[in-house]
Amino acid sequence: MNIDQLKATITTIPDYPKPGINFRDVTSLLQVPEALRETIRLMCEPYRDSGIDKIVAIEARGFVFGAAMALELGCGLVLARKPGKLPRATRAAAYTLEYGENTLHIHTDAIHAGERVLLVDDLIATGGTAEATVELIKGVEAILVGAAFAVALVDLPGLAKLSALSVKAHHVIE
Ligand code: IMP
Repeated sequence: MNIDQLKATITTIPDYPKPGINFRDVTSLLQVPEALRETIRLMCEPYRDSGIDKIVAIEARGFVFGAAMALELGCGLVLARKPGKLPRATRAAAYTLEYGENTLHIHTDAIHAGERVLLVDDLIATGGTAEATVELIKGVEAILVGAAFAVALVDLPGLAKLSALSVKAHHVIE
């Protein structure tokens, strides 16, 4: 499948979850086996020889892409989760939403200083979620090799935000 065919598997829902937002629904991509396989292959491509130790995947759709990539790259998988979901001691980073704040957590024993880490999510929009995850990874002095997204909303500032943090980001579909 080429990129246009991959893109065509993503449904856009106007005014969801609120007026003015065009929601990109990747669940329709997941339903097409060749589209999922090719998206995972392309997301992994730049990192095959990068010696990645761990993928940090962001709740919840990031888990789907992160788990498939961890199998393909032969690395560990760390779940960055919303508050109250992880059962053991965690470290946290806050990020702002349009109204208020949320927090992402990882277990304190999930990543260690010097480990080579790849951040993974389904989609980057304003970049707030990814930015908090970067803080979690850099906070333990792990080496953040890059950030991989299935989709980037390129009219929003997410990719520029990561670039300002010196994080190399890569995406498959715009
Ligand atoms: P950001 O923090 O604004 O970059 O938003 C990215 C996070 O929100 C990711 O974890 C996405 O799963 C989710 N998200 C934001 N907009 C969309 C969308 O249009 N489709 C699917 N997920 C989205």
